[in-house]
Amino acid sequence: MNRRTFLALSAVGVSATLWGEMDEVDLGPSIVSGSRIVSSILYKLVLVQNQVGYVQFNIISFDEMLKVASRCKKPFTKSEITYIESIFYGDPRKYGFYGERTVSALSIVTSKKDVVYMDKTGHFLMNGLALEKFTQIKRLVGNDLILTSGVRAPVKQLYLFLKKMENSRGDLRLASTSIAPPGFTFHSIGDFDIGKIGYGQFNFTEKFQETDVFKKLYDGGHICIRYTQNNSYGVRFEPWHIKVTGGYETA
Ligand SMILES: [Zn+2]
Repeated sequence: MNRRTFLALSAVGVSATLWGEMDEVDLGPSIVSGSRIVSSILYKLVLVQNQVGYVQFNIISFDEMLKVASRCKKPFTKSEITYIESIFYGDPRKYGFYGERTVSALSIVTSKKDVVYMDKTGHFLMNGLALEKFTQIKRLVGNDLILTSGVRAPVKQLYLFLKKMENSRGDLRLASTSIAPPGFTFHSIGDFDIGKIGYGQFNFTEKFQETDVFKKLYDGGHICIRYTQNNSYGVRFEPWHIKVTGGYETA
């Protein structure tokens, strides 16, 4: 294990052995070694997502997720829950992420009446400000606009973060430049991502700024972008991410 990985893992209070190739962690009935705890959590999260569906997985609460996993005969072990809690409640500044905490408890429940399903997108928006903002943007841009990501409760954000972490071979600094840790994303409290229809993955690259959708939004002055270029939060520039709530201005 390189020093950077070790430091990153120590930073969240996660034992370095949880990612080590050589060391083993007792996870109950089976001995799972190294990064397998992340793989095992991801496996169970995918199982739950398949069970409840992509749409519902965006807003499923932690407790409900645990129940579904148990019903699927793949309950989360104590070690896995402890690991998830250490990611959620740990201080991400130690690995270079300086965004503010948006959710104080892992177990928060997203009430159905607080969100609106956006037809054909697979995503929800928060009722109120977020929905108003999206409606305003839609009016300005027209049919070329799509919602690419909306409300993401802690479980969904955990899934995205661990997936990114696995792809980064445990480098939390690298992972958190593109995905905020669970508990630190503004998607949990109203922010959303938008894109141009038919633009696919380019919607999540700087190329998005070359689209007419982005130009209309920017010229209209309706958009306050959360993560501007060279922002101080340790997050990459995300011109597709629309700020709805929060206590600070970055633009
Ligand atoms: Zn976003």
